[in-house]
Amino acid sequence: MRDTPQRADWREALLNDYALAVLTLGGVVAVVWLAPFAVYRALTANWLAAASDAILAIAIGAAAWYAWRTRDTRWPGWVMAVAIVGGIWAIGLAAQFAALFWAYPGVLMNFFLVPAPAAVVLGAAAVLGAAALSWQELGGTEGLPFFVITNVLTGVFGYLVSQQAHRRIERWQALSLLDPLTGVGNRRLMEVEFAQAFRCGASVGALAVLDVDHFKAINDGHGHEAGDAVLRDLATVVQSALRKTDRLYRFGGEEFVVWLGQGDAAAAAAVLERIRQVVRERVRIAERAVTFSAGVAVHTAPESWQACLARADAALYRAKREGRDRVVWTSPGEGASSRT
Ligand code: GH3
Ligand code: MG
Ligand code: MG
Repeated sequence: MRDTPQRADWREALLNDYALAVLTLGGVVAVVWLAPFAVYRALTANWLAAASDAILAIAIGAAAWYAWRTRDTRWPGWVMAVAIVGGIWAIGLAAQFAALFWAYPGVLMNFFLVPAPAAVVLGAAAVLGAAALSWQELGGTEGLPFFVITNVLTGVFGYLVSQQAHRRIERWQALSLLDPLTGVGNRRLMEVEFAQAFRCGASVGALAVLDVDHFKAINDGHGHEAGDAVLRDLATVVQSALRKTDRLYRFGGEEFVVWLGQGDAAAAAAVLERIRQVVRERVRIAERAVTFSAGVAVHTAPESWQACLARADAALYRAKREGRDRVVWTSPGEGASSRT
């Protein structure tokens, strides 16, 4: 049986994002363990324990829920890490010996939720708090060194595994989101960034689709390697002509997408004209200028980025039909209008 896209998405998120996985585990513990305990404490009129269990369940449950909704794990990570320490102290106050057991997963999980130095400080607070509150059960000064050393080992393990996971994810992201030939963002990065930027419901500038003119002839006449060099040069030259806030992606083949996120249509037109000039001047094959055609669409909320890009693409085809080496604009409700 094949996975539905949504189910595959869930599993992917849990396997790829360790902070999300730890937050989810915390959320499950909050709902199936802490919340019923809060009810039980309330029924037995143990109000202090009921309140602390309820606060922990709500804080951790809300952090996990927020992380799932936004896929942002930074703030939820901090909330859960602090809640873990608070929870261990609360357990120490309410049911002394249990705090000693909870210290181990607490110390380990914190390394996956907050930066390592913060995890060390929070872990130390959890361990020392648990030891002080459960002093009798710990066996006093006799048990303390064993408790501390085994927690330190747990922490070192958490540090090593979390750092390795972090490194691997960073490397994987760099490999999977950048185009290996030109070094600019690839289509996947474009989709990720657009999904984020276009979600806000406001207008987010203009999208341009650029396509090299007669690129097949360059490949056929000078070889595939020369064609690759043209694509690399083009990406470098276009990037250098963009503003800091603009983004360039390789859409595929000899097509690029430029996102002009700031300013009005006139500012975007000035940037595109600069790009057209500078590519003409600096990207060459056997002394001949390389040109491109472009279609541009100004985004108007609440249009999706896919719809906006489709309009830009339609304008690109018009630019090709009208003779190439030009920029053609569309805006919603209007037909495409030429500007070179
Ligand atoms: P037009 O002006 O209408 O855009 O003509 P064109 O020749 O540029 O368009 P067409 O789509 O026919 O050709 C695109 C070519 O780009 C075909 C393909 O072999 C080549 N191509 C796609 N990706 C790469 C690449 O990574 N490197 C090289 N060298 N060529 C590529
Ligand atoms: Mg093409
Ligand atoms: Mg082309």
